[in-house]
Amino acid sequence: MLREIFGYPQFRGPQADIIEHVCGGGDALVLMPTGGGKSLCYQVPAIVRQRAGQGIAVVVSPLIALMHDQVGALHEAGVEAAFLNSSLSGEQAAAVEKRLLRGEITLLYAAPERVTTPRFLAQLDSLHERGMLSLFAIDEAHCVSQWGHDFRPEYRALTVLHERYASVPRIALTATADALTRQDILERLQLEDARQFVSSFDRPNISYTIVEKKDPTQQLLRFIESEHAGEAGIVYCQSRKRVEEVAQMLQGQGINALPYHAGLESQMRQRHQDRFLREDAIVMVATIAFGMGIDKPDVRFVAHLDMPKNIEGYYQETGRAGRDGLPAAAWMAYGLQDVVNQRRMIDESPAGEDFKQALRGKLDALLALAEATDCRRVRLLAYFGETYEGDPPAAGPPQGGRGPRGHEVPSVGATCGNCDNCVAPPKVWDGTDAARKLLSTIYRVEQQSGLRFGAGHIMDILRGKATEKVKQHGHASVSTFGIGAEFSETQLRGVLRQLMATGALTVDAAAFNTLQLTAGSRAVLRGEQTVRLREAVAAAAAKGRRASGTAKLASAAVAAGLTEGGRQRFDALKAWRAEVAREHNLPAYVIFHDATLAAIAARDPRHPGELEGISGLGAKKLQAYGQEVLRVVMAVE
Ligand code: ADP
Ligand code: ZN
Repeated sequence: MLREIFGYPQFRGPQADIIEHVCGGGDALVLMPTGGGKSLCYQVPAIVRQRAGQGIAVVVSPLIALMHDQVGALHEAGVEAAFLNSSLSGEQAAAVEKRLLRGEITLLYAAPERVTTPRFLAQLDSLHERGMLSLFAIDEAHCVSQWGHDFRPEYRALTVLHERYASVPRIALTATADALTRQDILERLQLEDARQFVSSFDRPNISYTIVEKKDPTQQLLRFIESEHAGEAGIVYCQSRKRVEEVAQMLQGQGINALPYHAGLESQMRQRHQDRFLREDAIVMVATIAFGMGIDKPDVRFVAHLDMPKNIEGYYQETGRAGRDGLPAAAWMAYGLQDVVNQRRMIDESPAGEDFKQALRGKLDALLALAEATDCRRVRLLAYFGETYEGDPPAAGPPQGGRGPRGHEVPSVGATCGNCDNCVAPPKVWDGTDAARKLLSTIYRVEQQSGLRFGAGHIMDILRGKATEKVKQHGHASVSTFGIGAEFSETQLRGVLRQLMATGALTVDAAAFNTLQLTAGSRAVLRGEQTVRLREAVAAAAAKGRRASGTAKLASAAVAAGLTEGGRQRFDALKAWRAEVAREHNLPAYVIFHDATLAAIAARDPRHPGELEGISGLGAKKLQAYGQEVLRVVMAVE
């Protein structure tokens, strides 16, 4: 069925095992990274069980905006599917319900709040009584957990499925995998007895880069222009205002950028999302309101101009890049202000102290990732409880790091060869002395004037700058005045950032961002804790990447190694696909992936037989589009 309907030559990773288990009526919890191929894990069993006379599968998904395209993709492959959600008129919904009750549908997509209505449950009862309910698939299952970042209370009510239809197998799927969330899913959805399929969360085709924030919009522009010109990407910013500014800046530079945030009128939001999905090379500048379940396969980069709240968020957002398996980039600019902002948001939130403590722990883990001087991939995977078996460590000094709350993290050893730190290992300098001097300056200034000050003033004192403010407060007489003249401001900022990241210093956001010592400061002051910092990372990493060639445009055409003629066929096929997509009101990739078009272009077929065995070309598509494709290919000479 994989070959016939989807046109793929083989299953990926654990798909075969999962599908066999679910086809046999077993319950499953599937943890697989974005782009791993979760959809097939329930689509194939749904088709198999339907053909065996076991009825329809219900897919619960919170992604209303995407159901239309998902169902469209199944239609293109020749599978009967439909969706029920609030976007349908009463008449349309009634028509779907009719088909449902007649058993004419293989997969029904429905929003969680719909599934649990008495009306819908009555319909399911009727199907169930007739033995026509074959499977429940619960997509984005982490929505059931308040620890996840997409908590949806409606998901809690889904236990009714198990209670009411105990004999119908259930498969829950998610790309969010931390232990807390997983446990929550098992309990909340009563899946304790389900078989668990946990895949590696590695996304080998995504390269990770975290740069120090200097002039973020310019840094972003350089990143896009030098590495991703003419490609689709997502840029995440913290606030609506930033989103608007950055989108405008990019537009001014000739980049096809669109803003997306919750403050935009819903029609415009929808239009921007549609354009992002349907057109080539759009850069979406967005708050995290955008992106859940975006299944556009050819997003080539995800950039963060502001730091997310935790590693789960970072990993899910960056995971939207490169679903098609071709090279893609995750890029983040991170600075002192990010640390301050995130800490403040936690401190000021109305949550209970326990919850805040959990949030702080999660933030700390992300900060440690940002400050790391060793392999980012190793650290990311370690966070999800996975040991990365990469290449053996390159020669050179061991690179330890620092974990949450200042605990030393031992050198992790392995390298992936596809993150900034692996491509161009950062020079590390010992910032211990600078850190001690900074902390003691903060201490002495507070002792002397009974007041606290912000980072700029403290650095001025340490570097011996007799500014107006220094004179006004008589801070030239502080004993540490000028003893750090050899440090640059950039260096000191790096030290401050790391001290904050590790909890050895905090910022009082309620009092003009003044610096404040913590219990963790003492170990640094006493010299019991070393502070290691990266030096001039951004420049070195970019150079290394250019040298290693990964900065090349990563299009499907490049990956397929097309000749000049092949390239022309590829372009012609893309133009033809755009027309078909418009006619069918579907995104282009639902008709054919770039990789499929590139494979056709490379093969340069002359007869229908020569189209067989191309990945992504199933029986229905071959029948529907085979002749057209040949015509387009042969018209290019
Ligand atoms: P997920 O939901 O896990 O993020 P999807 O189900 O959207 O991932 O699959 C990601 C992409 O990989 C899709 O474009 C899909 O068509 C493709 N894909 C899935 N399984 C296979 C396979 N066995 N062979 C080839 N491509 C596959
Ligand atoms: Zn690495």
